[in-house]
Amino acid sequence: MNLLDGKRCADSLIADIAKQVSRHVDAGLRKPHMTVVLVGHHAPSESYVKSKVTTCTLSGFESNLIRLPETVTEKELLWLIQQINADASTDGVIVQLPLPKQINAQRVINAIAPEKDIDGFHPANFGRMALGQKAFRPATAYGICKLLQFYQVPVAGKHCVVIGRSNIVGKPISIMLSNDFDIGNATVTLTHIETPRELLLEETRRADIVIVAVGIPGFVTPDMVKDGVTLIDVGINRLENGKIVGDVDFPAVAPKCEWITPVPGGVGRMTVAALMINTLMAYQNNFELA
Ligand code: NAD
Repeated sequence: MNLLDGKRCADSLIADIAKQVSRHVDAGLRKPHMTVVLVGHHAPSESYVKSKVTTCTLSGFESNLIRLPETVTEKELLWLIQQINADASTDGVIVQLPLPKQINAQRVINAIAPEKDIDGFHPANFGRMALGQKAFRPATAYGICKLLQFYQVPVAGKHCVVIGRSNIVGKPISIMLSNDFDIGNATVTLTHIETPRELLLEETRRADIVIVAVGIPGFVTPDMVKDGVTLIDVGINRLENGKIVGDVDFPAVAPKCEWITPVPGGVGRMTVAALMINTLMAYQNNFELA
């Protein structure tokens, strides 16, 4: 069993980003700048945002966090996004999800200028990504690809099963790994809550790579995978005792795996690193450096 260490990979990517930023700054340009919008006080969101802001500093970026009350209206949030879109000093913006009930998240995502959409959730970016064109790729899925690349895990020609079809993880990773990308060319099966259990097991048991993003602790058990599988655990689940676990029964399944991601220290770290890559790309596009 080998660990796909997201911290090690993310640290290496961020060190490389910081070097590129210092070259740009030495050449007289301003630093890249990320704006983060956080609505309310959702505890996991607070921790994700903190990690993103800290990683901006490590990457040599400027960042600012705009906090809005839980009661903010959709109209007020859309107005703020328009201001950020028009602000030339911001290269990339993220609106931390989830948003309160009174706000339609898709409408908010659609309002972000595609050239500042470093999460890669805007239909223009998602569509370009799906078509194999240059785009901001959804950060968690992109982070998974970077992790597989870093550890030189074979992907092309492999059979990959994705469990979960969310717009932010399952759907984009299934498209990216099946596309003709540098990390891609796999044969991908996308499964979800309506996939019959028997069919799910048939697929996962013959998969070379399993990616799980369902949000259920211990969902993947040893009987579901073959020996030598590569297992990517996207889940972040907070147990009642405060412990963070993924969607895989790690102690039981890890001995069967060739490669496996830990939680924490796996995909979560890579999501943040991928956001930094996207922000640097937004900045380089802005200054026509890329
Ligand atoms: P989600 O919570 O929006 O949806 C869950 C998905 O799981 C759905 O598509 C559903 O069809 C599928 N599902 C549920 N039960 C299933 C079953 N029995 N069999 C097959 N499929 C089933 O998904 P999400 O937003 O991708 O989040 C999933 C998990 O990943 C959560 O724990 C979340 O916290 C975590 N997450 C982690 C990161 C990261 O950076 N590591 C990023 C995003 C989400």
